[in-house]
Amino acid sequence: MSNQPDPPEGTAAPIDRRGMMIVLSSPSGAGKTTISRRLLERDANLAMSISATTRPPRPGEKDGVDYFFVDPVDFNLMVNRQELLEHAKVFDHYYGTPSAPVMEALSDGRDVLFDIDWQGTQQLAQTARDDLVSIFILPPSTAELERRLKSRAQDSDEVVARRMSKASDEISHWAEYDYIVVNDDADRCLNDVYSILIAERKRRERQTGLLDFVKALRQWQ
Ligand code: 5GP
Repeated sequence: MSNQPDPPEGTAAPIDRRGMMIVLSSPSGAGKTTISRRLLERDANLAMSISATTRPPRPGEKDGVDYFFVDPVDFNLMVNRQELLEHAKVFDHYYGTPSAPVMEALSDGRDVLFDIDWQGTQQLAQTARDDLVSIFILPPSTAELERRLKSRAQDSDEVVARRMSKASDEISHWAEYDYIVVNDDADRCLNDVYSILIAERKRRERQTGLLDFVKALRQWQ
């Protein structure tokens, strides 16, 4: 079943389909948080996966909204109980995707958006390749990436410098992704990512209701 809105009167009911996992990865500072937020605003059938992390909250971040902030002991428990779809150490902290909300959304025909790194994306590709659409967002230049990281002003200079040096490691995984989008303009980047989402929803194998739909179309025979 899908919970997509009812179609306008006189038009066909939406064809049932399986939800998909859309992963957005990029070095931090490439703009993926803004893109995610705006995608969620634009599309009611999209839900954000909220990760668990051992990293302390940054100013303004809320528990259960930006992340589930947990201590390392609880994180370990989640791993041991196999409650995480994927998990990885990024910089000095652990991050992971709680699986229950994702599974619930997918079976409901909703799509789930993930802001996770290349390690998590590799794990999802191993366990759920058919449901995965992976998008890598590249910054337009190193100078622009540095400017964006500095203007956030939430991290210390030392952290910014380390993130810059990590950015090149993260970028080295670009070829493992299905789509690559350069974020030189936020609106254009958003539209590109949204176009990917719309096209991927039309994939034949995702439209589980097609068999019945086409059968009904051919009933006159
Ligand atoms: P930040 O600490 O800046 O919020 O995130 C740091 C990095 O961790 C980002 O690249 C982000 O995509 C990644 N990340 C956030 N949540 C997860 C997760 O659940 N799994 C994995 N593998 N990476 C994550």
